[in-house]
Amino acid sequence: MQIFDLAAADHAFIAEVQARSHQDIKTCYQCGNCTAGCPYTFAYDYSVSQIMRLIQTGQKDAVLKSRSIWLCGSCQSCTTRCPNNIDVALIMDVCRHMAREAGYATERAVKVFADSFLNSVSRYGRAFELGLMTEYMARSGRIFTDVDLAPSALMRNKLPFKPHRIQGRDQVARIFERFRKGGAHA
Ligand code: SF4
Ligand code: SF4
Repeated sequence: MQIFDLAAADHAFIAEVQARSHQDIKTCYQCGNCTAGCPYTFAYDYSVSQIMRLIQTGQKDAVLKSRSIWLCGSCQSCTTRCPNNIDVALIMDVCRHMAREAGYATERAVKVFADSFLNSVSRYGRAFELGLMTEYMARSGRIFTDVDLAPSALMRNKLPFKPHRIQGRDQVARIFERFRKGGAHA
């Protein structure tokens, strides 16, 4: 399978990923260590080392439209294993942000979940699980997701009906405000 087209290299894309991640992309020599340790390779369309290669060769569309950048669990295993000290997990993060900015969300449910989580933290200073679940279900249409877990979570008091009131909510709100002013993207 040919996964990149050298003739279509987008050098501005390579430079942007480098600038935003502060990583030297060209030092990746495709050893595959990151892929070997990635727990989500089975679900990716491109393995994490393939994503690195796609970035090196400026394949902006292939990277930003990939499922992999949304399915990445940010576990840091790739970063830990890279012999060239490349923060590969950070590069996956950067690509996910860039995909958002470009209007791509190949795994929409993942984006909706992340948005619902952040909305909850923004409102209450921490996640309010029931509110988060409700927003996620309403926005994603996945109303029966993990619904079988609800009774045991309720019995263990893991799904309170009211949000917790934490100290320092205003400080958390300021973090979100700073981010919004800095240029948030849907
Ligand atoms: S951070 Fe993402 S890409 Fe890296 S090993 Fe974990 S799941 Fe895979
Ligand atoms: S472990 Fe590092 S050098 Fe090896 S393929 Fe992954 S990013 Fe490249």
